[in-house]
Amino acid sequence: MDTNTTSRQRALVVGLGISGTASALRLHRAGWDVVVLEKAPERRRGGYFIALFGTGIAAAERLGIAGAVPDRADPSGASYDIDRTGRRRRGLGYANLPGKNRLVVRGDIEDAAFSALPDEAEIRYATVPTALAQDFDGVDVEIRDLNTETTTIERFDLVVGADGLRSTVRRLAFEPEQNRTHRLGYMIAAFSLPEPVPGYRKQDGLILAEPGRSVWVFSFSDRPPTVLFSYRTDDVDAEFTRPAIDSLRAAYGPEPTGSTLGWLLDQFEKAPDHLFDSAEQVHLEHWHRGRVVLVGDAAWCLTLYSGMGASTGLAGADLLGTMLERHPDDVPAALRDWEEHLRPFIDYHLRSGVSMRSFFTPANQKELLLRSVVNHLSRLPIAQKLLAKTKTDSADARMKSLDIAAAAA
Ligand SMILES: Cc1cc2nc3c(=O)[nH]c(=O)nc-3n(C[C@H](O)[C@H](O)[C@H](O)COP(=O)(O)OP(=O)(O)OC[C@H]3O[C@@H](n4cnc5c(N)ncnc54)[C@H](O)[C@@H]3O)c2cc1C
Repeated sequence: MDTNTTSRQRALVVGLGISGTASALRLHRAGWDVVVLEKAPERRRGGYFIALFGTGIAAAERLGIAGAVPDRADPSGASYDIDRTGRRRRGLGYANLPGKNRLVVRGDIEDAAFSALPDEAEIRYATVPTALAQDFDGVDVEIRDLNTETTTIERFDLVVGADGLRSTVRRLAFEPEQNRTHRLGYMIAAFSLPEPVPGYRKQDGLILAEPGRSVWVFSFSDRPPTVLFSYRTDDVDAEFTRPAIDSLRAAYGPEPTGSTLGWLLDQFEKAPDHLFDSAEQVHLEHWHRGRVVLVGDAAWCLTLYSGMGASTGLAGADLLGTMLERHPDDVPAALRDWEEHLRPFIDYHLRSGVSMRSFFTPANQKELLLRSVVNHLSRLPIAQKLLAKTKTDSADARMKSLDIAAAAA
C-alpha cells in the first residue's frame, strides 16, 4: 500500500467531466495533490447544448476559466415552433428562459477546465475505483487499471466522486438505499447535426412539441446545431431493450413524420455518437460520508430540464475548494460546511428540474394547449416587456445567477 509521504494532502477525484475537472483544478489551487481517475480511455469532446447560467459563470471566473468558455449564441437567430406538416411560427425558445447565460456545448466547459489543470495533476485514463475503505485519517481506495487489468490500493485524505448519474463512488461509499435514482418517466436523446436543418438558417432554433414528446434543435453562431429528443414513457427499461433509433421511431410514430422530423431521425441514426438515456434525479440525504464527497450529477443530478447541471457542477467544485481552505485540518467539517451552504440552492433546482419538464415536453394535450397560448401571448408587445423583466428580475433568474461561493463568504 502506498503511504502519504508529503505534508500536502492528497485527493482522489473520480471522473473527468465538468464537475471532476473543476474539482481537480480547485483542489490543486487549495494546496492539494490531485489524482484523477477516468473510466474512458481518453477525453471525450463536443457534446450537446448547454446553457451556462450566472452561477456557473461566477464559479468559472473564480476558477480562472471563464475567459476560455465561449458564448456561441447568435443574437440574429429565431426560435420556431414547428409541426409535422411543415407549418412554422415564431415561438418561445431557450433564449426566453429566466437568467442570462452563455450558450456552449458541454465540451467547451470541459476543455476550458482541462486546459487550466496543472501538469502535476495526475490523470489516469481507463482506470476506476473498485472498493473504498475509510477510517478516521484517510481512505484506502482499490484502483483498477482497465488496460493492464491490475489492481492497486492507494491511500487518500479525500475522495471526490464526480462520476456522474450512475456514480461508482456513490455505490461504494453510500448505503444501497441511497443509490436509487428517481426516474422522471422521460427519455432523452441528444446528438450533433453535421449541418443546419434543411429550410432553416443555421442560427435558427426549432421546437416540435406534441403531447408527451418533443424535439428541440439548438443552434449556435459558429458550429452546427445539436438536437434533443425528449419523450414520456411508462416503461423506461423497455426503452433500453432495442437500439436507440428503434425506440425513438416508436416514440415519434406511428404518424408520418413529415420532412423535418424524418430528417432529424435519419440524422440521429447516422450520427457517429449520441446520448440516449432516461432522465433521472439523484436525491441523497447527505452528499458526503466521512472523507468521501460526491459532486455534480453523482450527488444531485438535476436533469437537463433544470438547465443547471453544469453550473452547479462548477459551483459545487468551487465551493468545495473554499470550504477545504476554510477548514484546512478538518476534512469532515469542510464537507459539512460545504453541504450546508449548497443544500437549499440545489434543492430549489431539483424541484425546478421536475417542474420544467413541461416547458421542454408537454406531458399531455392540456399542457400543449397552455404552451401554445403562452407562445401566442408572447408575441404581444406587453408580454415582450414582461419576458425581458422575467429574464433578469424573477426569483428563478436570481437562483440561476447566485454566486454560491461568494454568498458563503
Ligand atoms: C441533453 C442534455 C442537455 C443538458 N443541458 C444543460 C444545460 O443547458 N445547462 C446545464 O447547466 N446543464 C445541462 N445538462 C446537464 C449537464 O450536462 C450535467 O449536469 C453535467 O455535464 C454533469 O457533469 P458531471 O461532471 O457531474 O458528470 P458527467 O458529465 O456524467 O461526468 C462523469 C465523468 O465520470 C466518468 N466516470 C463514470 N464512471 C466512472 C468510474 N467508475 N470511474 C472513473 N470515471 C468514471 C465518466 O466517463 C465521465 O467522464 C444537460 C444534460 C443533458 C444530458
